[in-house]
This record gives sequence, C-alpha cells and structure tokens, in this order.
Amino acid sequence: MTQNLHFIFGDQLSHNLLNLRHIDQKNDVILMCEVVEEASYVWHHRKKIAFIFAAMRHFAEELRDQGFQVDYVKLDDEKNRGSFDEELKRAITTYNPQKILLTEPSEYRVWQKVLAWQKELEIPFEIFPDTRFLCSQAEFRNWAKGKKELRLEFFYREMRKKHKILLDATQKPIGGKWNYDAENRKTPKAGMKSPKRISHKKDQITSEVLDLVARKFPSNFGDLLPFHFAVTRAQALLEAQHFITELLPNFGDYQDAMVAGEPYLYHSLLSSYINVGLLEPLEICKMAEKAYFDQVAPLNAVEGFIRQILGWREYVRGIYWLHMPKYVELNFFDAQNDLPKFYWGDKTAMSCVAEAVKQTKEHAYSHHIQRLMVTGNFALLAGINPKQVHEWYLAVYADAFDWVEVPNTIGMALHADGGIMASKPYAASGKYISRMSNFCKSCRFDPEITVGDKACPFNSLYWNFMNQHQDKLKTNQRLKFVYPTWQKMAEKKREEILNQAKIYLEKLKHNQL
Ligand SMILES: Cc1cc2nc3c(=O)[nH]c(=O)nc-3n(C[C@H](O)[C@H](O)[C@H](O)COP(=O)(O)OP(=O)(O)OC[C@H]3O[C@@H](n4cnc5c(N)ncnc54)[C@H](O)[C@@H]3O)c2cc1C
Ligand code: SF4
Repeated sequence: MTQNLHFIFGDQLSHNLLNLRHIDQKNDVILMCEVVEEASYVWHHRKKIAFIFAAMRHFAEELRDQGFQVDYVKLDDEKNRGSFDEELKRAITTYNPQKILLTEPSEYRVWQKVLAWQKELEIPFEIFPDTRFLCSQAEFRNWAKGKKELRLEFFYREMRKKHKILLDATQKPIGGKWNYDAENRKTPKAGMKSPKRISHKKDQITSEVLDLVARKFPSNFGDLLPFHFAVTRAQALLEAQHFITELLPNFGDYQDAMVAGEPYLYHSLLSSYINVGLLEPLEICKMAEKAYFDQVAPLNAVEGFIRQILGWREYVRGIYWLHMPKYVELNFFDAQNDLPKFYWGDKTAMSCVAEAVKQTKEHAYSHHIQRLMVTGNFALLAGINPKQVHEWYLAVYADAFDWVEVPNTIGMALHADGGIMASKPYAASGKYISRMSNFCKSCRFDPEITVGDKACPFNSLYWNFMNQHQDKLKTNQRLKFVYPTWQKMAEKKREEILNQAKIYLEKLKHNQL
C-alpha cells in the first residue's frame, strides 16, 4: 500500500521543499498535475504557460532520476480531470494514501482549496512551511504589529541583519549606508544596448510543451516563439551566474532606465526562476554579495539588487498575506474605467505604452520601471479599475503569481490600498518618462506639451488625477509641492489642462488614444 501522497504545485519546483525531506522513496508517491483550471483562470501569456509546464516536466524527470515515484498528469492526458480538486481525489482513489503532505501554497486562492480539502476529504494532511521565503508569514505579522506604517526600508534592514547580508563585523551596513538608491537613477546613454543574453537548447520535453501550448491555447495573448527560458535548475543557475558576472556591475546605475527595443538592459530576468523554485532567493543574494567582496560589482549595484530580493520580494509577500483576501478588492480612488484594448496589443499612439506592451507580448517580460511608471502609471492616471489592471498583470508576465503581483499592482502601481504599501502614489507626468527613456523621441506626442493636439496624455492626466483626488492626497507630506504648484497656475490654464484630460479620457473610451 502507498504510504503517503506528496502534492507539489507548479511553483514549488525545489528539491529543498520540506515535505520532500519526509518522503519514503519506496512507498510514497508524488503528485504533480497540469490542469486546465490553473492554466485558464486568467488569460495567461502563452510563454508563461509553456515556461511553467516545461519547468514542471523537467522537475518531475529529475525527481524520477533520483528514484522517486511521480504521478505526473499532463494537460492532454486522457485521465486528466482538469482541476486540482479532481486530480487529488483521483490520486487518493488510486493510491489510498495514509496522509497527504504538501508545502504551503504561495497563493491565497490555492490555500483556500487546501483548507477545503482538509475539511472535505477524510484523510490527514501535513502542511510544511515554505522555507524558500526568507520571512515567514508569522514573522512578518509580528514585525507589522503595532506599526502605524509598514515601510519597506525598515523591514529591509531587519532582513539584512537577520540574514547577515552586507554587514561588517559590528553588524553595521557595509559602506556605512543601508541604501544606495540615490546613486541608482542614471538616465540611459544614447545608443545604449544591453549585453547579449544566454539562451538554452530546447530538448524534447520543452518542444512537446511548446507544441501543446500552440495547440491548446491558440488565441491566448503573447508570442510563444522564440522561447529562451531556462526550464531546469541547472539552466537557471547559468542565467544567475551570467547575470552576476556580466550584468550586475551596471544593474544599479541603469535600474530605472528604459530603452526602445531593449527590454532587458541590465536586469536579471531571474524573477520567474525564483518564483517557481528553480533558484532560491538567499543563494542569489549570497552570489551578489560575493560579487561585491570579489570586486566584480560595485556596492550600489549589489546593495540595490539585494534590496529587491531580500527587501521588496519578501515585503510584498508579507503585505499580501497580512491583508488578503480584502487586499485585491481595494479601490481607494474608486477608479472605474475599463482597461483599454491597447494593453492587449491594439494600436496606441503613445510610444511608451506601445513599447512596453510590445515587449510584454514578445517576452512575457518587461522590467520593473516599465511595469510601474509606464503601464502602471498610465492605469493610475487614467482611473482604470484596479481589478482589471490586476488581471492583466497576472496574465501577461511569466513571473506573475498572485502573492507578488497583487501587492505590486494594487499597492505599488495603483495606490488602490490607500497607502498601506507606498507613502505616495507613483504618479508621474510625461517628463519623467522622457528623462528616463528614449521613447518620446519616436512618439507623436510631446512630453513638454500639456494642452493641444501634440500634448503628451500623461501630462494632463497627471494634473487631472491630482485635482480629482485632492481630498485624499493634499495632506500627504510627500506631495507637498504638488498642490501649491497646481494652485499657482492661472485658472484658465488649469481649466485647459482639465479639459485636455477630459478629451483624452473620452478618446480612451473609444480606444482612440
Ligand atoms: C505593477 C507591477 C506588477 C508586478 N508583478 C510582478 C509579478 O507578477 N511577479 C514578480 O516576480 N514581480 C512583479 N513585479 C516586480 C518586478 O517588476 C519584477 O520582479 C521584475 O521586473 C522582474 O524582473 P527581473 O527578474 O529582471 O528583476 P530585477 O530588476 O533584476 O530585480 C531582481 C529581483 O528582485 C525581485 N524584485 C524586484 N522588484 C520586486 C518587487 N517590486 N516585488 C517583488 N520582487 C521584486 C525579483 O525577484 C527580481 O528577479 C511587479 C511590479 C509592478 C510594478
Ligand atoms: S510623449 Fe508622452 S506618450 Fe509619448 S512616449 Fe513620451 S511620455 Fe509616452
């Protein structure tokens, strides 16, 4: 008789999962399944589906090579019942296990399923914490307790101390400062190109998955080919090593830069691999720290990179679990406009948005500043409904899982949480995009103009947003220069700006922007 059944989800592809340490190789069975319910609860990018299935299949093979028994259900297997619920029930009937072991799911939605199984199925469950995260849910709750504001910077310092990263012998930050962000905002140089990225040979497993996705998801958003993703831990480690030696030295300087035709610049592209378990966040931080000690990369780059993983990544997860399920419903500005069709690839005259969407469609990737300051900023200024924006981000990026996407979208990009995450909305006019990118050069609009036919839509929408939400924002200390500037403008000018915003919002309704 089978002793235990281990259920491994598609974003738990790590040989270090705690439940795998409790496995009886001879008797236990590991269940992994590709189910249509998971592949279609949002309109996932085709590369995202292919990446996850290919990585799952390779992981299952690695487990088999190590001698484990794996019941792997492919999407097009005849026996596939289409949902986690039904697959689990089928496996219980087949193996009659004594117990189900699993690692806590990363998403609230799946966690609810696990709770329901525990109630419904007459079989004991053993649930292990996910030790890939560097701050447990309980630890974050403890840190948050009694605090008026949950700011990243203080959380990040605690994490640096806890994991002893970039500290000197007296436990002080190396270099004397915790944060070198002020050095990390260089504008892109003319003609800037990102170094060539490594790519990986597609084996039979990956080719089969690509065929499957082409057949089963013919009309989903996004280009399936070319497909360059790493799909095994060994390949993901090569990506990480390549990043550390070739790209990390410039990561800090050009972290916020945006260049047309250059989706990656000096970013790591590691989020998808970390999120599905092929890489561990702490090992990546240690690799970066070593690059500093070995004088491969400067402190501003290394600290900036480590802050993203040790700080931001853990922080957003903490916020997610602290506030779900309410968090995803928040809509502080009561934004009700529909997501424009150009987010799905329809034409727009705004070069910046067109470029960010094009990169997204081609690569299931766009870097942080494009997500935040182009597509996110536009959605914020144009009053797009947060739920619709959230579903878009969750669908189109290969690294998108609810626990990390929701706080980034609802909290960071849209400020729909009213400031739980960010002390002010990340709202910016076209001048910011013009400074940090070369997008405006090829745009029919002009970032220096606010009113008229050539006016950059971000400009009037920015002032319209600030005007519309004065009641909620004018006491915000971090916006203390915004409202006096607005009030100082002649009334006629203000009227013209608001009128221009009205014209653009009307055009937006008819997908004419
Ligand atoms: C609206 C919006 C939606 C986002 N959705 C996702 C998402 O679904 N999944 C996701 O992993 N990230 C998301 N992010 C965060 C960030 O944009 C991506 O992690 C990053 O762009 C991934 O590319 P990279 O690996 O090249 O990152 P790099 O710029 O090289 O950064 C290094 C690593 O730091 C981590 N990181 C950096 N910023 C964040 C952040 N804000 N939150 C969490 N981790 C971070 C990632 O693991 C990333 O791989 C979102 C950001 C915004 C503004
Ligand atoms: S002018 Fe405005 S719309 Fe055009 S690329 Fe620049 S910021 Fe974007």
